[in-house]
Amino acid sequence: MASAFPCFSPGPVPNTLGVSCTADQLCVAGSEGRLIEALREAGEGALVLGQGSNVVLPERLDQPVVLAAWRGLRLRVSGDDALLTCAAGENWHGVVRYSLGQGWAGLENLALIPGSAGAAPIQNIGAYGVELSERVAEVRVFDRAENRVRALTAEACGFGYRDSLFKADPARYAVLSLTLRLARRLPMRLDYPDIDLELRRQGVTQPRPRQVAEAVIRVRRRKLPDPRQWGNAGSFFKNPIVDPGQAERLGRTEPGLATYPVAGGVKLAAAQLIDRCGWKGRRRDGVGVWHRQPLVLINFGTGSGPDFLALGEEVRRSVRERFGVDLEMEPSAMCPPG
Ligand SMILES: Cc1cc2nc3c(=O)[nH]c(=O)nc-3n(C[C@H](O)[C@H](O)[C@H](O)COP(=O)(O)OP(=O)(O)OC[C@H]3O[C@@H](n4cnc5c(N)ncnc54)[C@H](O)[C@@H]3O)c2cc1C
Repeated sequence: MASAFPCFSPGPVPNTLGVSCTADQLCVAGSEGRLIEALREAGEGALVLGQGSNVVLPERLDQPVVLAAWRGLRLRVSGDDALLTCAAGENWHGVVRYSLGQGWAGLENLALIPGSAGAAPIQNIGAYGVELSERVAEVRVFDRAENRVRALTAEACGFGYRDSLFKADPARYAVLSLTLRLARRLPMRLDYPDIDLELRRQGVTQPRPRQVAEAVIRVRRRKLPDPRQWGNAGSFFKNPIVDPGQAERLGRTEPGLATYPVAGGVKLAAAQLIDRCGWKGRRRDGVGVWHRQPLVLINFGTGSGPDFLALGEEVRRSVRERFGVDLEMEPSAMCPPG
């Protein structure tokens, strides 16, 4: 089928869930200018994607899809500090490796998170006690509502736990580049028991940033399924935040429930809630719950986007029934449940 727009043609949409998805109109944007031109051409309905590691896709997308695919890194050094600007299409883990290789600290805990640099601020990626927002100096965007390029400070991005201004208004902003604030020395964040244990195992007592990243990589490889083998989108649910009264009541009826005080309430571990509902290792048709980490739903090879959503809904229902807690999905769903 011929596309309605000159920059677009039908094509497969990459995604780590391993579901087959074809866009009727796909544009692989090899530059900022190309992305802006494509969005202007396709209008409001167009969807911007990076590497598809945090989306649940249908078999066919009839809205125009623009992939942010251009690369580029620029490092500006000022004494013991640096600003690293990454093009939206850079691979996130590549950015982490580059910064550490140049001797800059700050991104080590965020090693091996899949996806593009442009998508990193969308859900404010985070892992092992660090969130991207702590390192963001500026996000340059194409503001589709105002039809112009803008530079937003970290504060203007409205970052929260797996949340941002961009996530709240997905049709408005296309991220063009991301500027990160790095330093030669930063206090290490080693409070996660897994990372601490891994460093001890390696006999490292005073870790350098690269060694922390290596420990993070080893822990992640052990715990998380490789999307090339088992299609997945990482955590399928966010950790829920409940009010202190509810956390206390749950603590009485559910001994041993992990609780972490955070701004705005008490965070619970979604993986533990799902595990207590007996989901670890269970399978429905072509999809299932990963046996080592029940926050992750995996594809056994034949699963579709709607299959993932249907299983996710079953998991949510059982957690709601047992704990009275609503789990919120982390990936963006682009299709209705099956
Ligand atoms: C195995 C695995 C482990 C993971 N671990 C973590 C983790 O530890 N922590 C974590 O936070 N996340 C994790 N994730 C989720 C994922 O890596 C991140 O959300 C990542 O930032 C998504 O990047 P992407 O390029 O694949 O985005 P996509 O999936 O392509 O898009 C995700 C969302 O961002 C939007 N978007 C993408 N690019 C742009 C752009 N340039 N401008 C505007 N909007 C855009 C899309 O419209 C969509 O809504 C994991 C995923 C997998 C598969």
